[in-house]
Amino acid sequence: MKGLRDMGLEASQGERSILVIYTGGTIGMVRDKVSGALVPLDFSQVSRHVPELAHAGIRVEAVSFESPIDSSDVMPKHWRSLATTIAECHASFDGFVILHGTDTMAYTASALSFMLGDVCKPVILTGSQLPIGVPRTDGRENLLSAVMLAAHATDGRPTIQEVAVYFGNHLFRGNRTHKESAQSFQAIISPNHPPLVEAGVDFEINRPALWRPSHCPRVPELNLGLRTEVAWISLFPGMSMDWLRRSLEWEDLRGMVLATYGSGNAPTSELLRNVLRQANERGITMVNVTQCGHGGVHPELYATSHMLAGCGVIPGHDMTTEAALTKLMHVLALTDDNETIRDFMTQNLRGELTPSFAGVSQAHGPAGAGLPVEM
Ligand code: ASP
Repeated sequence: MKGLRDMGLEASQGERSILVIYTGGTIGMVRDKVSGALVPLDFSQVSRHVPELAHAGIRVEAVSFESPIDSSDVMPKHWRSLATTIAECHASFDGFVILHGTDTMAYTASALSFMLGDVCKPVILTGSQLPIGVPRTDGRENLLSAVMLAAHATDGRPTIQEVAVYFGNHLFRGNRTHKESAQSFQAIISPNHPPLVEAGVDFEINRPALWRPSHCPRVPELNLGLRTEVAWISLFPGMSMDWLRRSLEWEDLRGMVLATYGSGNAPTSELLRNVLRQANERGITMVNVTQCGHGGVHPELYATSHMLAGCGVIPGHDMTTEAALTKLMHVLALTDDNETIRDFMTQNLRGELTPSFAGVSQAHGPAGAGLPVEM
């Protein structure tokens, strides 16, 4: 596996098998004696702190990034490496757990949801706020529950058939997540979609909230292409329109996520309108998301957002910024046709937006009877 090292860890023999992919992050860090900074450990040292893994009745194997990294260093090449590993190992495991730093976990989860396409096995990211070896760590519980949920089956099929994030006693849809707190053990939230699972004494599975793919290919149909010529611009009162104009003049620019006020509002200034119109004429895809922590954009509500529609800005509905940005990278790599880009951006491809929010179409939908899984 390119860039990955087989750790050869076999915790126990059991009915279901899970591949843990260790990328780094606080969960596997230890304080460097000289500098005092947190630095990553390798996975064999991480798993030593969770002996329960060996008794969970689940066969666990692990691979690791050659050099585990802080998630601030995670780049699209790492997303490609993760997606490729999952595709290559898809037939051999019932589910996948990715140990990842929390800082950019929501971006990785969102990107993977688009790159992996219809994936009918669980891909669960988790991490922790405190390193796994320290007292009061949240890493042990997060790792154990993520592995158990990845192994969870209903009527012989994986209960979770999507990219998800387990954190702070909750399983969330990955492309709905956002890191909200730098300190709390509930650092990750899903502002616009209910938790898929709440972990108390039992796992309480919220079945109507689960995603079911439209079909279950034997091997995930990967889309590894990502256009990174994108920008994320958040409006603020007093923003220099000259700065905005110059930013949008970057000749390679292909797309922009515009974070606007409230339910999708922007200043009515002629200057802004001109800058956005020019960008639209150059074929730059612009997607409107809210700066608010919850909810999304309702472009029909206020006159201030009608202006954006007139400039070709696409409503991002209730997508998080992380989902909008990674979806834009993904969609721009699929096609150059502006109408198709607009259609994809407003469709619910992998559960990243709420169809009822704006009456948009969706690739499939919440878990109903479920589809047969080809394994
Ligand atoms: N800086 C760390 C990271 O994202 C923080 C964490 O894991 O919680 O890799």
